[in-house]
Amino acid sequence: MSNESTERIEIPEGVTRALVVTAHPDDVDFGAGGTVMALVKAGVQVTFCICTDGDAGGFDDSTDRSQIPAIRRAEQVAAAAVYGVTDVRFLGYRDGYLEPSHEVQRDIVRVMRQVQPQLVITQSPDRNWERLPSSHPDHMAAGEATARALYPAVRNPYAYPELRNEEGLEAWTVNWLWMQGHVEPNHWIDTTEFFSRKVEALRAHASQTSHMEELEGMLRTWGEMQAQAGGFELGHLAEAFRQIKLPD
Ligand SMILES: [Zn+2]
Repeated sequence: MSNESTERIEIPEGVTRALVVTAHPDDVDFGAGGTVMALVKAGVQVTFCICTDGDAGGFDDSTDRSQIPAIRRAEQVAAAAVYGVTDVRFLGYRDGYLEPSHEVQRDIVRVMRQVQPQLVITQSPDRNWERLPSSHPDHMAAGEATARALYPAVRNPYAYPELRNEEGLEAWTVNWLWMQGHVEPNHWIDTTEFFSRKVEALRAHASQTSHMEELEGMLRTWGEMQAQAGGFELGHLAEAFRQIKLPD
């Protein structure tokens, strides 16, 4: 635990581009919305890659289910705009069926090679029994597929050779991995100043959150708990990650 750290927002040196890979529209906003704003404020170019269209989400029967993918993509684009993120990519997999298959891994490797990030943020591939909703099977699949893409596929020019041979995408080595929803976080980002915009971004996911009157209070409570775990002063809010320095 790095509780003795006095730095509020620690972004590894040399990070100019970050890629966030999550399972569903709204996952990045719940787990890392404030952190994305901290990165953008620090001048980091941020790209979102959303694996599924969240087509199993929602809370009422009045919406035509066939409209859900388009609605949720639009909501994610609107939430990203709150942070100033304009590069949002969708892989279009079916909600609830995500697996760390070679197809999914290759699609993530493609985006990694296109974006060339030094930092990747994703979801924990490990189940957190204390907070089971953070360990939705799609979340673990997105995290696992991303971990497999990070090592070794994205850096190996002979992995998924069609990416290089047909699309001209050269191997790329990512330096840092941050996992949200991890059972053993070791890195906390102070998100206090970004809280109102995090709430605004979550409100943009109206098909998921418009019925949640307690949304703001819930987000504040989570942020306070994570700030406390990270050793921040009372009144601060934070988001928690497991930070991994990937091999050179
Ligand atoms: Zn989710």
